[in-house]
Amino acid sequence: MKHALLAPVLLTAALAGCGGGKKAKAPAPPVEPPKAAPTYDRVSRADFNQRAAEHALPLFWRSDADGDNTLDPDELVTLWGWDGPAKDALIKGGGFTPAFAAIYEPLTKATDPSAAPAADRARQTALLAELGQGAPTLVETDLRGASAQDLAIIEHVTKAAALVEQVHAMQNGVDGMLAKIPATDTLARMVFIRNQTPVCQAPKTETDPACAAIAGVGKPPVGLYPAEVQTGDTWCEQMKGPLADHFSVVVKGAKGLEAQPYTVAYKAQLEAIAVELDAAAAAIAADDDEAAFKSYLTAAAKAFRDNDWESADVAWAAMGDAGSKWYLRIGPDEVYYEPCALKAGFHVSFARINPGSVEWRDRLSPLKDKMEQALAKLAGKPYKARKVGFRLPDFIDIVVNAGDSRSNIGATIGQSLPNWGKVSDAGGRTVVMTNLYTDPDSAKTLLGQTASLFCAATQEKMSADPAVALMTTVLHEAAHNLGPSHDYKVKGKTDDAIFGGPMAAMMEELKAQTSALYLAEWLAKAGAISGEAATASHVRDVAWSFGHIAQGMYSSSGSPKTYSQLSASEMGTLFANGVLTWDPEAKAANGTDTGCFEIDLAAWPAVIDKLEARVLAAKAKGDVKDMNAMRAAFVDGKDAWADLRATITERWLRAPKASFVYSLRRE
Ligand SMILES: [Zn+2]
Repeated sequence: MKHALLAPVLLTAALAGCGGGKKAKAPAPPVEPPKAAPTYDRVSRADFNQRAAEHALPLFWRSDADGDNTLDPDELVTLWGWDGPAKDALIKGGGFTPAFAAIYEPLTKATDPSAAPAADRARQTALLAELGQGAPTLVETDLRGASAQDLAIIEHVTKAAALVEQVHAMQNGVDGMLAKIPATDTLARMVFIRNQTPVCQAPKTETDPACAAIAGVGKPPVGLYPAEVQTGDTWCEQMKGPLADHFSVVVKGAKGLEAQPYTVAYKAQLEAIAVELDAAAAAIAADDDEAAFKSYLTAAAKAFRDNDWESADVAWAAMGDAGSKWYLRIGPDEVYYEPCALKAGFHVSFARINPGSVEWRDRLSPLKDKMEQALAKLAGKPYKARKVGFRLPDFIDIVVNAGDSRSNIGATIGQSLPNWGKVSDAGGRTVVMTNLYTDPDSAKTLLGQTASLFCAATQEKMSADPAVALMTTVLHEAAHNLGPSHDYKVKGKTDDAIFGGPMAAMMEELKAQTSALYLAEWLAKAGAISGEAATASHVRDVAWSFGHIAQGMYSSSGSPKTYSQLSASEMGTLFANGVLTWDPEAKAANGTDTGCFEIDLAAWPAVIDKLEARVLAAKAKGDVKDMNAMRAAFVDGKDAWADLRATITERWLRAPKASFVYSLRRE
């Protein structure tokens, strides 16, 4: 299942100042001799990246490292995932080639859909608006200094990932469509590449019929069932018994509908993937300590040939237990993308285990019993400190997401897999993605968001350093092991039975997140971290909560949003107790918004101690009444806090969202 385990602060990251970025230097005067060398300071970095997407170019200006507002050859990144000019055609001898100059020139001007033929103008305008809702955001893996073995693994796995994208396109019924979009229709090509479908998907354009990568073409029937059965509202009901199998498509046979295993339906493509996985396995030396990864690659290759995904799952779980430095999940998993939610979608999540998270685990593990005792004391009777395990998710730094894992906007930041079978029954593996929203653009967006809500003094303590977020993420996940959890019973009843599923789920997350706030102080007192580190984490955690509050308390179908509600409860408590204060007159740190928050860090520990005790005691005693009271006060209340939540939402959501693009840095 995909879920927002612990979504980072930035659910809505993007380029700050998109369209209004740094001012380009004045263009050369017309009297300039015609042979003057082209300059690369005529478009801001944010505009360059957005316009490169509008021209369907797999190019990205990483960062203006030397701060000269000029694109330098070593700042240009080529992106993974779609075809474009080869890098050595763009840069030669450390300088840009005339071929790059020709590519750069059109990017100095804003894309103008009104220049399109009248009949196509509405479509081009809509496509531009679609792309404008997702700012290209770089996920870059630095391979400089990587071993030959690692480079070989990456080469084969990314080749397999490209093939997986094709299989997923077949599942979506869109394979071959990109070739039908003219090369000159770059807005359409980019929409198709980003969305993996010809229709628009961003919030402001998804219902606009003009917004289509191919004029007049809507969402095609999926490739998983015969096109002719996909009519009306109830056609999925036919997909029962063998037809509902997760790893088969449905085809028309002699006797009606029948299931056809993926390995038959997509035989040639899956075989090609298996070959790459075998090659990746072969690249790992027999005596290497990545033997478990090698075994998974081999088992996955086998599954791509025989459809036995459960055997691959066993090797996959073992790879996690063996402490591989890699994370790879390749195969069919989630079902949300297709109308019947039955057929597992092919995807790749390829990542490296975050080394900082391993350090944190090793630091916290010896303290687990002491942390459990501290929490048990706050929880009070009848809860007793127990012998706790220390099962943490894998914290992973994404290299490439492909197929069903590659979202048009935003990204899955937590996932538990597999969805079925004995490995799933045994708990499966849970991952938290730690490198998304940590790039410089996302950091800038985050600081822009917090500067619109914090007053200057608090904003000064706000850090976008990924290390700060990592610590609190690890503390949150560690806390799921501590105190009363899902297995804990009060008078024979589990939390689900006492509180009901949604409330129980919210409380478990509220426990984990409040414990993260509490344990940061606790660790500082124990001398395990500095007071400054604890303080930095508090401010960051407030920003994290603001990001969730901005997403609203209930989904469109009325179900409670777990992280939003816990955030509103925590921040509401801090507000009610004077830790989080609102000054309606003061200017926010951005200098433009009026009214801003300050955090009284001196008052923080005592109030958090009380909140932690309240949450733990409610779980320990099964106190439904108290949790209902908390929800009534801080989630559903119509008071000053509710007004402030609306302010948080309005200011936070101004930033456009991130559309992640991937790159492997080799030089
Ligand atoms: Zn959690």
